[in-house]
Amino acid sequence: MRRFFSTIMLYAVILIGFSWVYHNNDNARAAVNRIAYVAQTNFQQLKSRVTGQKATTTASAKTQQTSSDSDSVSGRWKKTTATVYVSYENQTLQQAALDAIAKWNATGSFKFTQTSSRKNADIVMTTMSKDNDAAGMTQMSVDSLTGYFVHGTVYLNTAYLLDPSYGYTMERIVNTAEHELGHAIGLQHTNNISVMQPAGSLYTIQQRDIDAVNELYSSQANTSSSTSSSIKTSTQNIAAN
Ligand SMILES: [Zn+2]
Repeated sequence: MRRFFSTIMLYAVILIGFSWVYHNNDNARAAVNRIAYVAQTNFQQLKSRVTGQKATTTASAKTQQTSSDSDSVSGRWKKTTATVYVSYENQTLQQAALDAIAKWNATGSFKFTQTSSRKNADIVMTTMSKDNDAAGMTQMSVDSLTGYFVHGTVYLNTAYLLDPSYGYTMERIVNTAEHELGHAIGLQHTNNISVMQPAGSLYTIQQRDIDAVNELYSSQANTSSSTSSSIKTSTQNIAAN
């Protein structure tokens, strides 16, 4: 019991010391605020895993566009090709989607082919309009037996991308579309300079991203050890901005 109290006292002393540094040092305060912000974001991600709901960014995070990604899906297409249905009424989004598709196709690592059939498309690109949410989101259905994707939906959030107050340039909108298509290919986030950097709109496709696609598709897809022949599909959300 005595030990318990001395432990409490130790923490109290640390807290008081910490508090003093916090209030008397601008740099420390800035660092702590950053840590608190990251912790909050992580908590939201954790919460989203627990509740199954997508994490939301706080109002103050609006302009920072911090990622609110939930778990990344694990999977890939059987081949390095997929059909995609793109039909945006908004010309900016339409152009951004086409530019992003052309950019991926130019890498030679994966080929998106446009289709006019929404019903038969492997991937559908569409819009969502949610404030306080990610700028983009990708939802993939995976055959859990083969590890292969069955279907994908890429959402571009008009509430962010088309609201001038967020200051999205055409380049960043295209980067966002490239990022979401990266998820639709099967890529995961990385904190490197990459189109898959969690913020989503900062970078275009890099050589490391092309390498990542080549690596993903040179290996065997994850296969389940289950002998059941029934097809189970699971859907996981990937939110991104
Ligand atoms: Zn993402």
